[in-house]
Amino acid sequence: MKKIFIFTFIFQFILGYSQKNIKMFFENKSDTISYYADNPDVYPVSIVFSGQPELENMRNAETFRTTQILSPKTTRNKVAIFVKIDKTKKWGIKKMPSYFSYLGDVSIKSYDANYKYDLPFKKGKSFEVWQGYNGNFSHRNENALDFVMPIGTEIVAARDGLVIDEVHVNNRGCATESCANFGNYISVLHSDGTIAQYYHLKQNGVLVKIGDTVKQGDTIGISGNTGWSNGPHLHFVCFLPSADHKKTTIKTLFRTGDGSKTEFLTEKKIYSKNY
Ligand SMILES: [Zn+2]
Repeated sequence: MKKIFIFTFIFQFILGYSQKNIKMFFENKSDTISYYADNPDVYPVSIVFSGQPELENMRNAETFRTTQILSPKTTRNKVAIFVKIDKTKKWGIKKMPSYFSYLGDVSIKSYDANYKYDLPFKKGKSFEVWQGYNGNFSHRNENALDFVMPIGTEIVAARDGLVIDEVHVNNRGCATESCANFGNYISVLHSDGTIAQYYHLKQNGVLVKIGDTVKQGDTIGISGNTGWSNGPHLHFVCFLPSADHKKTTIKTLFRTGDGSKTEFLTEKKIYSKNY
């Protein structure tokens, strides 16, 4: 009996973060069905399945991994291979698990905790950290920093990296969470897998594009007051990608003063950059 009998293919394209370009497809050759995924983006993408496929008279040729990392700019990443068991009987895939996709590699659990970040503004400037790590205005359970600065201040990269995401079209901000989706920002992927975000940039205040490589100290944006914000400032956050929609935000050491000292920044203190 040569008739191909495939019950259903269920793909729920539920998206995590802003990642949206993964293309998943399958090929059917005699007694084998193979699933592949293309990642056209410049950054790694993690796909996390909700469980195991449900098969009828088929087996996994290789262990099905519920978390898979797709390298940047790759095609035909092997996701799953199913092989018919008894060729005389009905066979097929009853159900493929749904999946979320995430920007970055969610399998990374450790990072360079000793890295010395530069303050994200120009030499000769000083700004106050109005709200610090786990601050009670909008940083509860978040390791983020708010530098109060006038709209139009030049923002520089705190660390080398690759620009993987940006939004620059918004022109709206307010002091409640209802404005959270209107923030302009830049996301930069670092060599250890962490991602920094620079938030609340002014409309068209993004000076880089996705795929650009930035060096520590490069001017990348112009500060603003877009999104969930109670006044002009820069929100800086660094995190490890994670598979539960919650950023695993981290505290980072900064060079301050003349650059010879490194420290964790705390709120209500003014930090100068003279390096
Ligand atoms: Zn903030």
